[in-house]
Amino acid sequence: MAEPAASSSAKPRGKRKGPRPKHTPQRTCIACRDKTAKRTLIRIVRTPEGDVQVDPTGRANGRGAYLCDDPACWQRALKSTALEHALKVTLDAGAKERLRDFANQNLSVPGDDAQSEGVTTT
Ligand SMILES: [Zn+2]
Repeated sequence: MAEPAASSSAKPRGKRKGPRPKHTPQRTCIACRDKTAKRTLIRIVRTPEGDVQVDPTGRANGRGAYLCDDPACWQRALKSTALEHALKVTLDAGAKERLRDFANQNLSVPGDDAQSEGVTTT
């Protein structure tokens, strides 16, 4: 396939109409190393004060790390030093507890939500 090099008709280059691939910001879960679109990951931030907390907005100041919205990843990250490495901080028991609590309360555990709703047997 021979293309005529530099034809006389100057075509405007650059902007093309039509669908262009959307750039979705990807983040890596520090536990499973999966790359996912940012919104399915939860940001954990080490604030400038050295506090470690969940950052639901994703825009808090400080060093951030990302975890899937999968409780397994949170457990893994808290058991290992993955999170501490990512945040370059040592997590004390309280901070770990808080993160674990967050995971327990906010992340869906498969097969665990069918019972919480409806009839209470007390
Ligand atoms: Zn993960």
